[in-house]
Amino acid sequence: MFTAELTFECYQDTTIEAVDGAITQLIDALRYNGQILGREFPTSIDDGVFITRVVCPEEESLHPRHHSSIVEQRLQALSEAGLLAPKIRLTGMDLHSDNTDLCQPPEWQVLYTHYLSTCSPLRCGEHLAPIPLYKLPTPKTDDHQALLRWQVDWSSTDELQMHGTTLQQACSDVLTDINSPLNNTGWQLAKDIEQQTHTPTYYYLYHLADAAKQADEAEQRCCPSCNGEWKLTTPLHGIFDFKCEPCRLLSNLPW
Ligand SMILES: [Zn+2]
Ligand SMILES: [Zn+2]
Repeated sequence: MFTAELTFECYQDTTIEAVDGAITQLIDALRYNGQILGREFPTSIDDGVFITRVVCPEEESLHPRHHSSIVEQRLQALSEAGLLAPKIRLTGMDLHSDNTDLCQPPEWQVLYTHYLSTCSPLRCGEHLAPIPLYKLPTPKTDDHQALLRWQVDWSSTDELQMHGTTLQQACSDVLTDINSPLNNTGWQLAKDIEQQTHTPTYYYLYHLADAAKQADEAEQRCCPSCNGEWKLTTPLHGIFDFKCEPCRLLSNLPW
């Protein structure tokens, strides 16, 4: 991942409110198109110039060829707020995030996130490296907001059950139950991505140790959708112990 600065200059008299609104709208559109990652984008004012700091999956992420129609609209709206199109400056490599997948296209992919992850929740099945969302065909809604909202819901639920101080059981239940609204949404999103990309796309179903159940019982768990056998002989990426091809589900042994 790469860090970058977007510098916005005013070309006519304007107000802070107008500028702030236009920049926020553009940043949201870039985020929902997968061109920038994360949820916080510090913006500072320096001598009448506005600078927003972002993290991108690739060096070329902010190139116009990756823009969605919504990003284009928001760029045009900048001029109504008295702003020029932003100047983009790459400031370096981000040491804390995963490297983007290099497969074009991957043989298979998986929808997988966790509570510390801010990169794309769609990952290459072979390398588990994140795939920038702007590389996918444009969804009907013109952006990936639904997918990113699912990611925030999933990682927030994961964070609560990891911390264990509030709603722990409720959050564990939501994560492990294939019929929970959270998993329903994610599994459907994976199916939609498979349809759009023609690449097998799996959904990761989190599994947590059940104190009442024995370890061998966990080993013998069947696919929660088709009840078929799905245990892998060797775990994938040290995370996935179960894989059901027809159902496009992956899961883990409790650790
Ligand atoms: Zn790959
Ligand atoms: Zn199955």
